[in-house]
Amino acid sequence: PEEKSLNFIEEIIEEDLKSGKYKSIVTRFPPEPNGYLHIGHASSICLNFGLTKKYPGYTNLRFDDTNPVTEDTEYVESIKDDIRWLGFEWKNELYASDYFDTMYEYAIKLIQKGLAYVDDSTSEQIAAMKGTPTEPGKDSPFRSRSIEENLDLFARMKNGEFADGSRTLRAKIDMTHPNMLMRDPVLYRIKHAHHHRTGDKWCIYPMYDMAHGQSDSIEHITHSICTLEFVPHRELYDWLIEKLEIYPSHQYEFARRNMNYTVTSKRKLLQLVNDKHVSGWDDPRMPTISGLRRAGYTPESIREFCDRIGIAKRENMIDVSLLEFCVREHLNKIALRRMVVFDPVKVVLTNYAADGSVEMLTSEDNPEDPNSSHREIPFSRELYIEREDFMENPPKKFFRLAPGQMVRLKSAYIIRCDEVVKDSNGKITELRCTYLPESKSGADTSGIHVKGTLHWVSVAQAINVEVRLYDRLFRVENPASEEGDFKDYLNPDSLQVISSAYAEPSLKNIRFSDRCQFLRKGYFCLDKDTSEEKLVFNRTVTLKDAWAK
Ligand code: ATP
Ligand code: MG
Ligand code: MG
Repeated sequence: PEEKSLNFIEEIIEEDLKSGKYKSIVTRFPPEPNGYLHIGHASSICLNFGLTKKYPGYTNLRFDDTNPVTEDTEYVESIKDDIRWLGFEWKNELYASDYFDTMYEYAIKLIQKGLAYVDDSTSEQIAAMKGTPTEPGKDSPFRSRSIEENLDLFARMKNGEFADGSRTLRAKIDMTHPNMLMRDPVLYRIKHAHHHRTGDKWCIYPMYDMAHGQSDSIEHITHSICTLEFVPHRELYDWLIEKLEIYPSHQYEFARRNMNYTVTSKRKLLQLVNDKHVSGWDDPRMPTISGLRRAGYTPESIREFCDRIGIAKRENMIDVSLLEFCVREHLNKIALRRMVVFDPVKVVLTNYAADGSVEMLTSEDNPEDPNSSHREIPFSRELYIEREDFMENPPKKFFRLAPGQMVRLKSAYIIRCDEVVKDSNGKITELRCTYLPESKSGADTSGIHVKGTLHWVSVAQAINVEVRLYDRLFRVENPASEEGDFKDYLNPDSLQVISSAYAEPSLKNIRFSDRCQFLRKGYFCLDKDTSEEKLVFNRTVTLKDAWAK
């Protein structure tokens, strides 16, 4: 196999292993359980878990659950399901909230060192004193409180004596620091809220900067990888580790992955769910892992996608057609070929026995596989073909069915159209055709060569199925950057339901784990809405890039 060049994080790790700085590495994937994982998270998962597959070490799953208001156990469960489905296993399942006691002690340590103080200013006052990138900030009037007073007030904050927002704990760094985040950042805030794990034990919660690096340090994370917006936080990350004299984890940043024609922000995806623009987090149009899974994406295809886009130091937009390319490539190898007619017109073979005879033809499940299994397909006098595969007055290069013209029916015979039957409105109701008995696929002695091959089903044995066809969720490439509300740019035609398509009977035995290629129609899988009465299929992706045509 071709040698892949190292990405910049692999380069750092190889250097660290070579120099003996570390013998093995520890990474973590730190989702906030406030929504379902999306394709951007898949990048981070593949990166963090991929590194410890490649190098000695392990990866923790750490729920970054320091914000009690937006978090929920439903999300915790979905996140675990999604990571496992993607093919990764964590060493330890951890929760930042499990470290609340330790973080509280760390805060006290900072106060004792004269490096943190309780501020009675409101958030507006704090913001007003922050300064700007070009102007220094101002010291809070509470900045010079004594250590004793700070210890007392912080304990009382913890004991619930004060209202939300009335006080904060701030680091005492430098209000003139060129990095705005170093201007006495807030470390703790008061929030009387129920937490999904710690219940009502706490009414003060650590801010991101007081929680993330400390959790990394507690777990002895060697390489803490986050996205670029945290670059300015690194200085504070290092400052806190240094002042607290704890295990020195290091933060590295890579570019957030965005994909076009969708949004990858849990907050925005939640709006789509709450406002019922989609049926749920796992709607097949959603860029969530659960949506992609329901749509029929395979873990292999998502890992391949993440691998191909690699990691970058600069933000950019990934074309969704690359993701579609990856899934097509995988499904082509594994999908069972099946025939389903979406919009039927009846074909009657006038020279075929009219006594209801049924002939069983065989066809391979996957021509890409030399050891492919086969299935049987019934063939009879009355068939359905796709209405759009017939034209009464075809243009020159129409190689499908037309009056007097011949086509091959896949894995069956060549037929010729002799007569078009219409109802009183001029709608075609039947195509009367003859078949060439000597043209049977695999035993064709007709000597006739035809250009077109059509999919078809036998009317009497066909089963009724529902197919759901999906298109881009948004009409524009980058809905989040458009003027106004991103939801104004939803594609109104992103879902098309064909409630009665006609499928070959072998689909009765299809399983949820199977992937199908409906010939000439795309790749499909069973949807969870399937019932005893009706099979429901989702189209994962078309056969070719429909956008290029
Ligand atoms: P969102 O805006 O969707 O809420 P987030 O960064 O707040 O994103 P987290 O749950 O904190 O979501 O993310 C867990 C991990 O996944 C973090 O390390 C984060 O950097 C990474 N991550 C999130 N979104 C992306 C993305 N689009 N591309 C790459 N990594 C991402
Ligand atoms: Mg986050
Ligand atoms: Mg977030």
